[in-house]
Amino acid sequence: MKHSDIFRKRTAVLITKHKKEEVIFPVLSQTGMNLKLLDTIDTDTFGTFTREIERKGTQLEAARCKALKAIEETGESIAIASEGSFGAHPTIFFVSANVELVLLIDTLNNIEIAGWEISTDTNHSHSEVSSVKEALKFVNQCGFPSHAMVVRPNTAGDNSLILFKGITSEKMLKEVVKKSIAAAQDGKALIETDLRAIYNPKRMKVIEKAAINLLIKITSLCPECSWPGFEIVEWIKGLPCENCSLPTRQTLKHIYQCKKCHHKKEVQYPDGEIFCDPTFCDFCNP
Ligand SMILES: [Zn+2]
Ligand SMILES: [Zn+2]
Repeated sequence: MKHSDIFRKRTAVLITKHKKEEVIFPVLSQTGMNLKLLDTIDTDTFGTFTREIERKGTQLEAARCKALKAIEETGESIAIASEGSFGAHPTIFFVSANVELVLLIDTLNNIEIAGWEISTDTNHSHSEVSSVKEALKFVNQCGFPSHAMVVRPNTAGDNSLILFKGITSEKMLKEVVKKSIAAAQDGKALIETDLRAIYNPKRMKVIEKAAINLLIKITSLCPECSWPGFEIVEWIKGLPCENCSLPTRQTLKHIYQCKKCHHKKEVQYPDGEIFCDPTFCDFCNP
């Protein structure tokens, strides 16, 4: 068997109960794997965005746990799991970002390949509201009703179990906002965007891109041993400025490395440019 065919005709199980197969299967079908859905496991036990259950460990560890659970449940040797996170963008200040991971684990060959995508196109947001009018104003900025909302009392006290998820109609929204305001100690309802993939089309798009990133890595083979997952492990800065020729902070080369045989390869000028625009040069444009 050629290593490029390592996954072909084998069964891969995707663990999700939030319809992620709708964006992941069309992408990964190009690997030649038989894709099987496992939607009977309650993946919320690995953590929820609404904080009833905190996620243990990193995003990668959480995805790995889900994938291994799928392997344990089905007896197959390839599993795919996805895990998302929301928060401050790592390099752009004051911008919210959604980071998605789609992970493949092959326990037969001891392979783990991670597809990542980061996007600032997210409706991740929340608001404390004192009236239905304020609630409607907020949700209209968040892509409601195509994107669902989560509503609960703001300071809940003894009413901490009151939590309404997956709200997608104005009628229902008005009702749960009134109930939450009535139950809150401070007379306010807390509205949050529902971040579960099935209720959040923006997030679904980012998951699809992470799946594409995974596909690229699966089909990227080591030139030495043909093992899949030949990927960039280092980004080297220093693309010379077009004006002064001094090194800039733009990428000069990528270093790829094989996880199997550790073969390394340098790719110069990965973005197709041999000079950097002086706008980004610290000397010409400090
Ligand atoms: Zn190799
Ligand atoms: Zn310069």
